[in-house]
Amino acid sequence: MKIFSDAKTLIDLFQDYRSMNQEDLEDFYQSKCDYYQNYVGISLIVAVLISITYIISDYMLNGTYARTFIPRFSVIVPLILFLISTQFFRTRRATVFMDYFLTHCIVLATIWAIYHLDIKTHASEGFVIMNLIFLTVGFAARLREITLSTIIFWLEILISHSFNHYDNLGIIFALEIPCGIAVICSHALLMLFYLDHYRVQQKLELAMITDPLTQVYNRHLLEKIITQNALKEVEGPVAIAMLDIDYFKQVNDEYGHYTGDLTLLYIGQKLSKGTHDNDYVIRYGGEEFVIILKNCDVNNACARMEQFRQEIESATDTPVPITVSVGVSIYTGDFSKSIQNVDSALYKAKNTGRNKVVVV
Ligand code: GH3
Ligand code: MG
Ligand code: MG
Repeated sequence: MKIFSDAKTLIDLFQDYRSMNQEDLEDFYQSKCDYYQNYVGISLIVAVLISITYIISDYMLNGTYARTFIPRFSVIVPLILFLISTQFFRTRRATVFMDYFLTHCIVLATIWAIYHLDIKTHASEGFVIMNLIFLTVGFAARLREITLSTIIFWLEILISHSFNHYDNLGIIFALEIPCGIAVICSHALLMLFYLDHYRVQQKLELAMITDPLTQVYNRHLLEKIITQNALKEVEGPVAIAMLDIDYFKQVNDEYGHYTGDLTLLYIGQKLSKGTHDNDYVIRYGGEEFVIILKNCDVNNACARMEQFRQEIESATDTPVPITVSVGVSIYTGDFSKSIQNVDSALYKAKNTGRNKVVVV
């Protein structure tokens, strides 16, 4: 039955959520915020403008606009602050803080306007309507931020009772508490469904940078790890190696493309296993691999690639006997230039007999 499969999906998603460490959670909530913040930002601007139109219901109760004019229009000030700050602060925390800042300013302006109303009984409807804004803002926030904000909202109502003296505080809370809980529950569900979307997105992003045959990275990875022709987030020396299978065309011609494919898979997997977790193995062309070795000087890179070359030469588990040629160069800070250097090192290796490692 569909209801059981839906419940199972939710339980699986909840377990997935619980298994995330702090770093994964940060990344997940950042992605959720990036996805929804435009919607939240625009909705908040609309909410501010709509909150001002409540001056009409104030008129119906007071018979004048004058007394609630300043409280109702005061929301323009935090709106301007919100619009300016969102230009400068781009982190998730700052963004969500400003979302809730503006929301609570709307609450405070409403409480201020209620103070000037002759009849305060309708405050209960006003507070219930506020949940529409809390529901909207929650899209960009973490569950604990949503819960905290709901509790702050309840405190604001309670504290304002000391000067607004609501004659129906019991009704206000009897209506508001279920609404607040509904907002929290609805966002707990949304968070789980967003997690489903987030996982699909992660799989697609990984598929985009993975070579389907060899399961190592493909060239799309370079778009992620390079900005302005420089590798991102590198410390210490970085070496680059370019490896090309010798006479690979003959492998295809003599043993067929399928064996050729198995050979490529073998090399890709062996390179993956033989490198460190933070190194990158990239299938750069048909039977060419680029290896970016982090925290590795050129001598160390040479030694590691020479060992790899020897292992391939003497391996007994390759689909067909093969050898490889490798060019090695230090990463200079200029990625294109460094690739040109390894390419000419590889060219030298090819031109001087193959099955060797050459440094430039
Ligand atoms: P060299 O020693 O000079 O590198 O000679 P080579 O034969 O390895 O080099 P060449 O560039 O002439 O041939 C590369 C071959 O790689 C040609 C192409 O058919 C083959 N190739 C490229 N991509 C694939 C693939 O995905 N699968 C298979 N089976 N072969 C591929
Ligand atoms: Mg080749
Ligand atoms: Mg080649």
